[in-house]
Amino acid sequence: MKPRVLFVDHAGVLGGAELYLLDIVRAMKEQSHVVLFEHGPFYDRLKEEGIEVTVLRSSDSVMGVERTGGRLDDLKAIPGIFSMVMQLRKMAKDFDVLYANSQKALVIGSLAAKAAGRPVLWNLHDILTADHFSGAHRKLGVFLANQFIDHVIVNSQATKDAFGESGGDLNKTSIIYNGIDASRFDSIDDHEVAELRTSLGLADHKIVGVFSRLTPWKGQHILLETLGHLPEVHALLVGGALFQDDHAYERSLRNLAERMGITDRVHFLGFRDDVPRLMKAVDIVLHSSTSPEPFGRVIVEGMLANKPVIATGAGGAKEIIDNGVDGLLIPPNNPMAMVNAINQLVADPVSTEKMARAGYQMARKRFSVENIVLDVQNQIRKAVGDLDVLTYTETSTPSI
Ligand code: UDP
Repeated sequence: MKPRVLFVDHAGVLGGAELYLLDIVRAMKEQSHVVLFEHGPFYDRLKEEGIEVTVLRSSDSVMGVERTGGRLDDLKAIPGIFSMVMQLRKMAKDFDVLYANSQKALVIGSLAAKAAGRPVLWNLHDILTADHFSGAHRKLGVFLANQFIDHVIVNSQATKDAFGESGGDLNKTSIIYNGIDASRFDSIDDHEVAELRTSLGLADHKIVGVFSRLTPWKGQHILLETLGHLPEVHALLVGGALFQDDHAYERSLRNLAERMGITDRVHFLGFRDDVPRLMKAVDIVLHSSTSPEPFGRVIVEGMLANKPVIATGAGGAKEIIDNGVDGLLIPPNNPMAMVNAINQLVADPVSTEKMARAGYQMARKRFSVENIVLDVQNQIRKAVGDLDVLTYTETSTPSI
């Protein structure tokens, strides 16, 4: 019997964690139900794909809690948390297991699962450091994980290390990387790419692209500074300001481009659903995060688009790229390093093509959605006490 799984995620927007979850629930549709804490594009996408989804009656005090927020906001959120736990507990009784896919989902999901007498997994997508979380939130996450969570799936060794350093129990973690569907990239032909470049008015230009939500640690400002040194190069900034504070960052980027006099070469495209097409249309895919990236889906996607990828060498990026072989790693926060890496790729097209090809092959092999879904399914089966392990087909490349 396939276990019935109640997936829980707080976000209505489509960030990396939600795109990952979409792949998982799509593959196990008939046994899955998703609970979100708000409406939004993620809800719409799940509905469109015929996946069962419910939005909890959420309290503003809970939704307003920031990762780096203070204890007062946390205290104000307690009545809202209680009400959401009670709603979720009722639902959880109809399922075999809960699967919390975000921090807020951990808080509500772990308490609801225990109250309903169900096992619960947590998929940790973040590096638990002071860059991203207040001390109180790190402590709370680790406490709930150690006390109530049956198994923690982490998206990289870097995420696992930070969890351990914050006091998390490493005996119940396993690393499962994100999988990316290569067919979305393979299906795009040269004609479509040429048309897109023309429609952007960039048919004859060198184009680089960053494909991340606009938020300070994703480092789009580093890209703008880089462009200041490369007068011929255009940049696509693909991604929206998904969360509350990020709108101010978007404004600051636009102001910076204005001050630098490069607005004609910086193309803000906002959040897009056609990332594969856009990646295929650029010459180089850049990743510019200034803090360690927990995983970095965009790095794998750049490789599957058959593009040379330059990424900042910290966190998950170092686990994906073999520097100089299938991509380039540069130090974070360093526009000149990015300039030099771009120049290196442009100056030697033969080596660059070889690097892109190596990246494509490596990404197909290591980050197949099918295998990653199997890894997740096996953890779910273990959590409900089913020890029959599902095995890989063809490219048997389990994540660590
Ligand atoms: N993405 C998207 N549309 C955009 C910008 C980004 O669909 O306009 C996707 C991108 O293709 C990737 C995900 O958002 O799959 C971002 O995941 P990543 O792990 O790089 O970063 P996260 O958002 O999880 O920090």
